[in-house]
Amino acid sequence: DEEAMIQSEKLSVVGQMAAGIAHEIRNPLTSLIGFSKFLKTRIDSYHDYFDIMLVELDRINSIVQEFMALAKPQANQFRKHDLIKTIQSVLTLLETQAIMNNVQLTAYYDADSASLLCEENQLKQVFVNVIKNAIEAMPQGGMVVVDLKSSGSGIAVSIADQGVGIPEEQLPLLGDPFFTTKDSGTGLGLMVCYRIIEGHGGKIDISSRPGIGTTVTVHLPKFD
Ligand code: ADP
Ligand code: MG
Repeated sequence: DEEAMIQSEKLSVVGQMAAGIAHEIRNPLTSLIGFSKFLKTRIDSYHDYFDIMLVELDRINSIVQEFMALAKPQANQFRKHDLIKTIQSVLTLLETQAIMNNVQLTAYYDADSASLLCEENQLKQVFVNVIKNAIEAMPQGGMVVVDLKSSGSGIAVSIADQGVGIPEEQLPLLGDPFFTTKDSGTGLGLMVCYRIIEGHGGKIDISSRPGIGTTVTVHLPKFD
């Protein structure tokens, strides 16, 4: 309806501005991080302060990166990609983090290939965010199972973990900017995921059982 359309146009203007500002912040931020690291090696005292600065700069960096992904995907940047390859590269990227957290990543594909029109880098970011959340939900380690199912009109990718789960009253808050239950979370990951998948004409479903685990399912249309 009209209300929803106005809402989504507002979101896209805000998203583009946020992405533009984030882009401008990135260069000065990179030099602040670089020089802080350099000074820490050159100055023998105040290392605690340098460490705090670096942690906080890293936090700004994460927020900036999440916002940069908000730039609305341009229709002409959509290309044909095999989503299986996209997921495989994301799994490779996260392998080290998984091992360090005692997490086993497994993937199942019900087809040899799963092509769709997309902005591949944006979809990578979605799967990185979701799989990172799954890893972070299992402080003692466990399994993350990625399952891709391809049908005539679309592709569904579910990411299931054995983590802490999400209390029912928090489900409506998922994707709200800055909603986080983590000490060093940004609360921007899922918001970015929702926006990117919306921009691809898809949707995200999240189901969870506290103490048992969470399943996030990303539905994407094939557009052809
Ligand atoms: P962040 O990871 O920085 O906290 P996100 O937007 O990625 O921000 O996630 C928001 C919140 O949603 C998390 O802080 C957590 O409470 C909850 N959440 C997301 N994914 C999971 C998951 N797989 N298991 C448990 N909780 C989750
Ligand atoms: Mg996250």
